[in-house]
Amino acid sequence: MREILIATGNPDKAREIEQILGVADNGTPLPIRWRRLVEFDPIKEPIEDGATFQANAELKARYYADAIGLWTLADDSGLEVDALGGAPGVRSARYAGEHASYADNNTLLVAQLADVPEATRIARYRCVAVLTDGRRILASAEGSVEGRIIDTPRGRGGFGYDPHFYVDDLGMTMAEMTADQKHAISHRGRAIRALRSELARLLA
Ligand code: IMP
Repeated sequence: MREILIATGNPDKAREIEQILGVADNGTPLPIRWRRLVEFDPIKEPIEDGATFQANAELKARYYADAIGLWTLADDSGLEVDALGGAPGVRSARYAGEHASYADNNTLLVAQLADVPEATRIARYRCVAVLTDGRRILASAEGSVEGRIIDTPRGRGGFGYDPHFYVDDLGMTMAEMTADQKHAISHRGRAIRALRSELARLLA
C-alpha cells in the first residue's frame, strides 16, 4: 500500500482536498493510505516565494516530501482578478499582509474594486496540484473556475474569498454552495481529480 502525504498547513484546504479524494470514507479505489500533516510532528511552513502557482506547488511538495520522507501531494491556489491585473494571484493568502485574516483580505479586495462595476469584475480561482516522490515531480494538474467579485458577502460555507466569489451559472457565491456543489466545479476539485487520474495511471 502506497502512503501519500497530503501536505497543506491550511486546515480549510486540507478538509477540501480530503473531501475531494474521499479520504474519510476510503472513496479512492486505489491502493493508497492517505496521510495528513497533523499526524506528524509540527513542521515549519516553507517560504512560498515562487512566481507561479506551479512553482509554489512544486516547492511545497518537495519541501514536505523531504521533511517526512513520503510521496507527497501539495497544491497552490489563489484568486486572479482581471481588473487588478491578476492580483492577488500567488499572494492570495497574504494579500493584506503577512498574517492577514480572510476578513482582512476580503476587505482589501472589495476596496480595490470600488471603482469597477460588479458586472465586469471577472475573476477566477486557480489551483495547481502536484505529486512528488521526493526526487521528481511524478504528476501535475491544474484547475480553474470563473466568477465575479461582489461587494456584499453571501453564504457561510467554503473559506477565504468564497463569500465574494459569485458564480453566474449557479446564481450563488462559492460560500452558498454545499461542499459537493463547490467541489464539482471548483479549481481545487478539478485539479485534484485530474491528479488522482494521473496517480491511478502511475500505480496501474
Ligand atoms: P495557498 O494555496 O496556501 O498559497 O493559499 C491560497 C489562498 O488563496 C488562500 O489562503 C485563500 O485566500 C485563496 N483561496 C484558494 N482557494 C480558495 C477557495 O477555494 N476559496 C477561497 N479562497 C481560496
